[in-house]
Amino acid sequence: MTAQIIDGKAFAASVREKVAGHVARLVEEHGLTPGLAVVLVGEDPASQVYVRNKGKQTREVGMLSVEHRLPDTTSEGDLLELIEALNNDPMIHGILVQLPLPEHMNSDLVINAIDPAKDVDGFHISNVGLLGTGQKSMVPCTPLGCLMMLREHHGSLSGLNAVVVGRSNIVGKPMAQLLLGDSCTVTIAHSRTRDLAGVCRGADILVAAVGRPKMIPGGWVKTGATVIDVGINRIPKEDGKSRLVGDVDFDSAVKVAGAITPVPGGVGPMTIACLLANTVTACCRANGLPEPE
Ligand code: NDP
Repeated sequence: MTAQIIDGKAFAASVREKVAGHVARLVEEHGLTPGLAVVLVGEDPASQVYVRNKGKQTREVGMLSVEHRLPDTTSEGDLLELIEALNNDPMIHGILVQLPLPEHMNSDLVINAIDPAKDVDGFHISNVGLLGTGQKSMVPCTPLGCLMMLREHHGSLSGLNAVVVGRSNIVGKPMAQLLLGDSCTVTIAHSRTRDLAGVCRGADILVAAVGRPKMIPGGWVKTGATVIDVGINRIPKEDGKSRLVGDVDFDSAVKVAGAITPVPGGVGPMTIACLLANTVTACCRANGLPEPE
């Protein structure tokens, strides 16, 4: 048996197309252009690539894209002032501060300075609380993308055993909340989990968000399970270049799983697509308009 490959790239393209349709209607019927501001502090090369891609895709769906690139010597006070200005800017509906921030900054303080209604990353403490209590919130983009792929593949997730490996605030914890919201029986595993292999083997849905290349072998995957690989790990190739791999050993897992996301081309493209969708949602909410489904 070979697993079905869940094509995140194609799915993300269809999400972006829907977003572009919503944006066109907002412009045409309401004279509203959703606006996304991305703030990058410092020179982290991976963050620069992410920010560039976000800006490009934002413009491609017809939204306003504003980028603020600040040197890593920027003071926390100056960053907070910029966030306050963006909070008060009616052209901006979504604000994203690219993480990680330089060490001299308190990330929690900075993220919690964003107006929760514009917090399209869903990391503000208010949005975390709303998600945890099953209320309408801004949902973190990467777990939202994973949930969308799972719903598309399974239809209902009700009653399925879901194991999330990783308990970060960005991926693992919100992923677990979303799966619980869809009535899965959820286990969150982490570096102290005993018998991780056994825990993973019980999963109908296995989400890996660890950051360790190919850590989960096919032998840990239940036959027919759906595997969502969030990990993005760069490993050296023999020719001196590098390539991206996930947290799951794709070659062995693909032989056991029922469906699996590849790396690259799985979860990654869905993350930015969900960011764009969240920005449209924020724009609709800010203007009292019905939200896209
Ligand atoms: P973090 O480093 O914040 O969290 C990693 C989690 O993995 C921690 O909870 C840690 O446990 C757990 N862990 C570490 N080692 C083990 C182990 N040996 N066994 C079991 N659990 C372990 O990472 P993130 O959540 O931010 O990211 C995870 C991965 O997802 C990374 O590869 C990242 O690049 C990728 N990513 C991809 C995105 C995308 O768009 N596709 C977006 C965001 C992240 P403990 O808490 O006990 O230390």
